[in-house]
Amino acid sequence: MVFRLLKYGLSHRYPVTGDIPATPDLKPRYDVVIIGGGGHGLSCAYHLARYHGIRRVAVLEKGWLAGGNTSRNTTTIRSNYLTPQGIAFYKEGLELFAAMSDELDFNIMFSQRGQLTLAHTEATMRAFHTRAEAGTYMGTRIEVVDPKGVEALCPELNMDYGGALEILGGLWHADGATARHDAVAWGYAAQAARCGVEIHQRTEVDGIEIAAGRVTGVVTSRGAIACDHVLIACGGMNYHVAQMAGVELPIRTYPLQAMVTQPVKPWLNILISSVSLHTYLVQSSRGEVVIGGGSDPYQLYSTRSTLDMKEHLAEGSVHLFPFLQGVRVLRQWAGITDMTPDYSPIMGASPVTNLWLDCGWGTWGFKATGVAGKRLAECIATGRVPAILHPFALERFERFALLNEMGATAASH
Ligand SMILES: Cc1cc2nc3c(=O)[nH]c(=O)nc-3n(C[C@H](O)[C@H](O)[C@H](O)COP(=O)(O)OP(=O)(O)OC[C@H]3O[C@@H](n4cnc5c(N)ncnc54)[C@H](O)[C@@H]3O)c2cc1C
Repeated sequence: MVFRLLKYGLSHRYPVTGDIPATPDLKPRYDVVIIGGGGHGLSCAYHLARYHGIRRVAVLEKGWLAGGNTSRNTTTIRSNYLTPQGIAFYKEGLELFAAMSDELDFNIMFSQRGQLTLAHTEATMRAFHTRAEAGTYMGTRIEVVDPKGVEALCPELNMDYGGALEILGGLWHADGATARHDAVAWGYAAQAARCGVEIHQRTEVDGIEIAAGRVTGVVTSRGAIACDHVLIACGGMNYHVAQMAGVELPIRTYPLQAMVTQPVKPWLNILISSVSLHTYLVQSSRGEVVIGGGSDPYQLYSTRSTLDMKEHLAEGSVHLFPFLQGVRVLRQWAGITDMTPDYSPIMGASPVTNLWLDCGWGTWGFKATGVAGKRLAECIATGRVPAILHPFALERFERFALLNEMGATAASH
């Protein structure tokens, strides 16, 4: 066996091929520079090269690929939002996820297991009815279920812990799913690289150059580059990077934490989320229970994790599933999230010509990795913002045309 493995490994017939080439030298000019090598930046690069034939693209990442929120998130994919504009956008995102393994020839481990959000108050039940109406109208699979329906979907739930926070019902979203986050980033990176996109890791952008109101290039830790278009896709750093171009974004940055337990026997085959407990759980394919909740209550640019949050998440989880008591927490981590006032992203044009924004993804942007990249590539390639992105324009804040998704984002992300 060992000998056969060695023979296979050393044979010229099976050469080692790297999916992503090593960081090349920077060229003096590109058609498009994408700042941020997270899922969103890589998805846009892929769509530019694959569908618009724009291949002189450089993705500049100050750290390593997907080292920001892309590989820190808890991978909830869903389209059960509140506004028709939000639902239409995230629905397209979900459809792209369902087809992504084939599209990228890379197994992203898409698992459409459904998401159940629990209500512990009458007010939450009323909000669920509104979301179910909106979602059904927009063609998503969504319905309100009573306590019996909740029990049928997840028999292990503690329906009434001493009457303190009885479960009154739930919002069942059969389309809800998860996927492997680093596989998504890797898949986009590998296919983008195959189409000729250059991926420059450890390359930080320190300045954005503008002449006569139009973007002309960027200054990086490895030198200056000229370009025709720049996309800002910098996750938690979006506010600061936009400021380099004099663009003020209505964004505040908060840490968001999550944790994972030791592997346990598979029992949870859906995503579970509780609005009142600010806790959600999903069991990974390794058996680990991934647990997340709300943002930290203060603005901060730090990815440290806290005992407070661990206690809060453990408490919520044990309320819902008492048998988790005694299960060990293996890891806890945080990302920094760029939050907008209305819990919707900012996508499209900026006040600077050819400087494009893919910002304000806060705690909910993983599910939009495919669709945001696809639609922003369309903006860059055609110079026109497609209708599906109009509601997410930066200038909505000037017109007081906010797209309030706070109630549908909450702890579920
Ligand atoms: C704990 C946690 C749980 C979450 N759970 C979910 C969830 O369940 N579902 C969901 O949909 N979303 C979730 N999110 C949100 C989601 O992770 C993000 O919205 C999404 O990953 C944003 O992707 P991105 O590519 O825009 O940003 P990122 O992945 O953060 O990528 C941005 C990149 O830009 C780089 N960068 C920054 N500044 C510069 C610079 N000056 N020069 C060069 N590069 C720079 C960073 O290093 C980073 O790699 C969660 C987030 C966290 C933290």
